[in-house]
Amino acid sequence: MRDRPTHAGFRVFIDFDNTISIGDVLDGVIEKFSTDDRWQALEADWEAGRIGALECLDGQMRGLSAPWPELTRHLDGVKLDAGFVALIEFVRRAGGELTIVSDNFDLIVGHILQQRGLTGVTVHANHLELAGGRVVPSFPFANPACPGCAHCKKTHFIPPNDDDRRVIYIGDGRSDLCPARHADVVFAKASLLSQLQAEKIPCIAFGELADVVRTLEKLHNENQL
Ligand SMILES: [Mg+2]
Ligand SMILES: [Zn+2]
Repeated sequence: MRDRPTHAGFRVFIDFDNTISIGDVLDGVIEKFSTDDRWQALEADWEAGRIGALECLDGQMRGLSAPWPELTRHLDGVKLDAGFVALIEFVRRAGGELTIVSDNFDLIVGHILQQRGLTGVTVHANHLELAGGRVVPSFPFANPACPGCAHCKKTHFIPPNDDDRRVIYIGDGRSDLCPARHADVVFAKASLLSQLQAEKIPCIAFGELADVVRTLEKLHNENQL
């Protein structure tokens, strides 16, 4: 861990898809609501590194036909990791701050949280507008200095948005690699875990969010947070 004053507190930044949600919600939306199979070619181009995440997501979202009633019916079936509420409560008790940083979209993540009564959580995500079933994405947190990211999640805690508090990052996938390289403590699973291990970047493996809560409570009790 980076040497910061322990009294300064901490901030938790957490990915949404496949970290808070069970499975990848955005992948599910793209698969279900795409009007043709162009999204698969975009996915393949992104996987191969021929295009960045922004170009990939922009093209995939514009290929959707997703009327709001059908979209919300689909989203209402999404399941969340049962430990997420415990994580929110721990962070509040310990005087920390929790922010969701997602490469999904504000409309989608916002609806899922609101439907479950989780209204007090700050969310930074890409922006979506629905116009007569057509989908218009935009990317308010794109970072010209980081062309691989659609939403460059680290911008929320690097200068000028940094302070003395420790940064804890929790994630699972490729959009989490950039912020994980800049956080003080990283909890990782799935491809993020294997990538960080390959790069020998210290991180804590987790399976579900209850594991993260247990570890954070221990660090907090030992005055390491
Ligand atoms: Mg994810
Ligand atoms: Zn980035």
